[in-house]
Amino acid sequence: MHQLTLAEIARGLADKKFSSEELTKVLLARIAQLDPQLNSFISLTEDLALTQAKAADARRANGESGALLGAPIAHKDLFCTQGIRTSCGSKMLDNFKAPYDATVVAKLAAAGAVTLGKTNMDEFAMGSANESSYYGAVKNPWNLEYVPGGSSGGSAAAVAARLLPAATGTDTGGSIRQPAALTNLTGLKPTYGRVSRWGMIAYASSLDQGGPLARTAEDCAILLQGMAGFDPNDSTSIDEPVPDYSASLNGSLQGLRIGVPKEYFGAGLDPRIADLIHNSVKELEKLGAVVKEISLPNMQHAIPAYYVIAPAEASSNLSRFDGVRFGYRCENPVNLMDLYKRSRGEGFGPEVQRRIMVGAYALSAGYYDAYYLKAQKIRRLIKNDFMAAFNEVDIILGPTTPNPAWKLGAKNSDPVAAYLEDVYTITANLAGLPGLSMPAGFVDGLPVGVQLLAPYFQEGRLLNVAHQYQLHTDWHTRTPTGF
Ligand code: GLN
Repeated sequence: MHQLTLAEIARGLADKKFSSEELTKVLLARIAQLDPQLNSFISLTEDLALTQAKAADARRANGESGALLGAPIAHKDLFCTQGIRTSCGSKMLDNFKAPYDATVVAKLAAAGAVTLGKTNMDEFAMGSANESSYYGAVKNPWNLEYVPGGSSGGSAAAVAARLLPAATGTDTGGSIRQPAALTNLTGLKPTYGRVSRWGMIAYASSLDQGGPLARTAEDCAILLQGMAGFDPNDSTSIDEPVPDYSASLNGSLQGLRIGVPKEYFGAGLDPRIADLIHNSVKELEKLGAVVKEISLPNMQHAIPAYYVIAPAEASSNLSRFDGVRFGYRCENPVNLMDLYKRSRGEGFGPEVQRRIMVGAYALSAGYYDAYYLKAQKIRRLIKNDFMAAFNEVDIILGPTTPNPAWKLGAKNSDPVAAYLEDVYTITANLAGLPGLSMPAGFVDGLPVGVQLLAPYFQEGRLLNVAHQYQLHTDWHTRTPTGF
C-alpha cells in the first residue's frame, strides 16, 4: 500500500479497495519502523491523522469525492499548524505551538488531506543539505551516509522512502527542487504569489514560495491544486484563477520549444550530470519538442545577489524572535539587552546567525547601496534575461543541481561550497518564475534531477512536460533499496 501514488490512492479510495483509516494506519506503522534511520519527521500527529482519516472516510461514504479526500500527506515544519509544534527546525521555536493554521494547511485539510506529521528541515529553511536542523540531520534514503538536500529535506526523504505519497515544501532558493533532485522526486516551486504564504514562517519574503513534493508530476498536480489560490491574508498572493492542473497533463509536446542555456554547462557541472540532461533533452525531442540553445548572460551574478537579498530579508524577518514574544527565552536574564542577546544567541544555530549578520551588514548605512541595492539591480537583470528567453522558447531546461548528493558533513566547514549548489535554482526565485525538478537518471547510485522553468503562471505547462516525460521514462519509479 505504501507504494501507491496520490492518484492511485484516490482511485483505490473511490473504488473502496481500502479506507483512508486503513491506509493511514499502514503508513504510520511504516514511519514508526523506518523513520529512525532517516530522521525525516520532527513531529508525528497520529491522533489528528486518524481523526482526519475517519472524517474523510465518512465524507466519501456520504457521496463526496476529491483527489485529496483521505490522502495522507505531511507538512514541512514551517507551515503553522494549530495547536501543534511548528518549530522551523530551530531551538528558537522548539516550544512554539501555532495558534492558527497556515492557509496551505487549512486548504489541504478542507480538501480532506490527512496530516501524518511535520517534517524535518534546515533551521529557518536556510541550507541545501538539511544538516542545520536543531533536530539533527536528515539522511538520504538512497544512501544513508548522504544528505537528502535541503531545506525541505525531511519532506523529500520521507516521500522518497515511501513513508507517504507526497508532502509540502517551500522554496526560497531551491529548497523544493534541489531535495527533489537529490532523492529522485518531482518537486514544483510555483510562481511567486500562486500559493499563499500566510502562516508560512518567513525566511526571505520576496523569494519564499510553498509547493508540492511527490513522486510524479501527476501527484504534484493534485497537491498543487489543493495549495494554490488567492488569499486575502497574504498581500503578495495573486488574484488569478487556478487552472485545472490535472487536466493540463495530457497536452501534446509537438512543437514545444525548449531552450537550453549555454551558461548551464560550464565548469562546475559534473559531466555525468550533463550527459543525463542531454539524454532527457533527446527524450523530449522524441516526443516532438524542438530544442534551441539560449543565453542567460547574468546567471553568474545570481548567487552573490541571492546571498545578499535572502540574508537581508532574513535579518529583518527573524528580528521578531527576541525572547519576548515567541519561542525560546534564556534563563535568568540580568537585563533586557541580556535577554535579547542570550535568547537569540542560544536559540539560533550557527547558519542562522551567520545569515542574520550578513543581512544586517548588507542593509546597514554605508553598505546598503553597495550591496543590497546592487543585488536588487542584478535581480532585475536576471528577470530581464528570462523575459527575453521566453520570447523565443516555451520552457527552459537544464540540470537542477551541479552535483549529486554529497556525504553528510562534507560541506560543513565551507558554507560557500553549499551555496554554490543553488546555482541553477535560485534564478527562478529571484525572477519569481515557476520551476520543476524531475528524475533524470543516476550517478553512482545517486539520483539526478532535470529542471524545467516556465513563464509566470505556467505551472500547468511544467506539469504537462514532466508528465509526458514520465510516461516515457521510468527513472521516477525507481525505489531506494531497503524502502
Ligand atoms: N539553499 C538556499 C539557502 O540556503 C535555499 C534555501 C531555500 O530555498 N529555503 O538559502
